[in-house]
Amino acid sequence: MSSAQGGPVDLPGLELGPSATGCGQLGKASLFASRMRRVREAMAAQGLDALLVSLGADLPWLTGYVAMPLERLTMLVVPTAGSEGATLVVPRLEAPRVTAMPEVFSVRAWEETEDPVEVVAELVRAVAGHSPALAISDRTWARFLLELQARFPSASWLSASVVTGPLRAVKDDAEVAALARVAASADKVAAKLLAGDIGLVGRSERQVSAHISQLLREEGHEQVNFAIVASGPNAASPHHDASERVIGESEPVVCDFGGSLGGYCSDITRTVFTGPPPAELARVYEVVAEAQAAGVAAAQVGQACSEVDRVARAVIAQAGYGQYFVHRTGHGIGLEEHEGPYLVAGNDAPLVAGNVFSVEPGIYVPGKWGVRVEDIVVATPAGPVTLNKASRELTVVRG
Ligand code: ZN
Ligand code: ZN
Ligand code: ZN
Repeated sequence: MSSAQGGPVDLPGLELGPSATGCGQLGKASLFASRMRRVREAMAAQGLDALLVSLGADLPWLTGYVAMPLERLTMLVVPTAGSEGATLVVPRLEAPRVTAMPEVFSVRAWEETEDPVEVVAELVRAVAGHSPALAISDRTWARFLLELQARFPSASWLSASVVTGPLRAVKDDAEVAALARVAASADKVAAKLLAGDIGLVGRSERQVSAHISQLLREEGHEQVNFAIVASGPNAASPHHDASERVIGESEPVVCDFGGSLGGYCSDITRTVFTGPPPAELARVYEVVAEAQAAGVAAAQVGQACSEVDRVARAVIAQAGYGQYFVHRTGHGIGLEEHEGPYLVAGNDAPLVAGNVFSVEPGIYVPGKWGVRVEDIVVATPAGPVTLNKASRELTVVRG
C-alpha cells in the first residue's frame, strides 16, 4: 500500500468551527431519537426485552444527560417495543439537571424514601414477562445489578455494549467534527511541546504534566483527562504516572495527553528528546514513526482492525523490537477515551466509515527508555484521515 494512500486527505464537509456541534434543541432531539430507534432495532435483533442504561457514556449518547457517579441510582429504561417510551429514572435532586426531551424519553424522578430499584423493576415488568431478556450498561454499579438480579431471578443478562458499542463506534458528521475540533486543540499543545515552549530540563514530570494540563484548558479543552509525562527510563512504562523525577538532558520524554470538549475526547502522544539521542534511540524513533504511518495507511474502510495492528507491528518486529511493543496498536475514541473499535490481534471486524481511533505503536525497553507516537484517525471512504497534524519528525527541544 503506497504511503500516499494513507496520507492526510481532506474530509469533505468537515467544518472545524464551533458551530459544528452546536445544533439547536430540535436538531438534537431528532439526533437522539434516531439513535434510540437504531438501539431498539439492535435490541430486537438480540431478542432483548429492555435495555438498562446507568453510568457511563451510553447515557449521554442516548439522552444528552451525564449522570454523576453517585450512590443514588440513575437508570434509563429502554423497552424494545416501540409503543412504550424510554424512561429516565433519576434522583429527585438531580432531575433539574436533565434537559427534557419528551419525544425521546420521559423522566421519572424518585424520592428519597422510594426504592429506585423497584421503580426500574416496575418499568421492566410492564414490558417483559417472567424471564425477561435484559441488557445493562457495563458501568452500572454492581450493587444495582445484584438487586435487579434478585428481583428477576430467571432473567437473562447481556452487556449493553453488545448493543450500543457497534453503533457508538460509527460516528456521524457532527461527532467527527467534534473530534476534529478537540484534536486541533490538543495539537496546539503538542506544537508548543515540539517548539520547546514547554520547559522540560530541570522540571519534574509532575510540573510538566500540570503545565500541559493548563495549556489544554487554555487551548479550548473543557476537561483534562490525563497528561502522562514519562522521561528517561520512566518512558519504558506506557501508562507511567507523572512523578517527581526531574527531567535531565539527552533524554526521551513521552508526553501522552488528552481531555474533552463538548463531551468528545482528544488523545495524542509525542516523544521529544532533550538532547540529540544516541544512534540506537534515534533509529528506534524512526521505526516507531514508520510503524505509526504504516498503521494509519492500513486503516482503510473494509480492512480488518487486526490487520492495522499487524501492519504496524510488522515494522517494529522487522527492526528487531517486536518483544518491546507490549500493547495493542489503537483504540476507538469518542465520548470515552477508550472505546471500540480496538485495533488488536483477534479483532477481525472490518473498519467502517465513521470509525475514529488512535494509531499509537511504541517501543519500550525496560530500564532504558521508550518511544510512542499517537494520532487520532478517521476511516473515510476516501481513505484514513489523521485528525492530529502536529509534526511526527524526531524533535530535539532545548530548555
Ligand atoms: Zn493509553
Ligand atoms: Zn494516548
Ligand atoms: Zn490512546
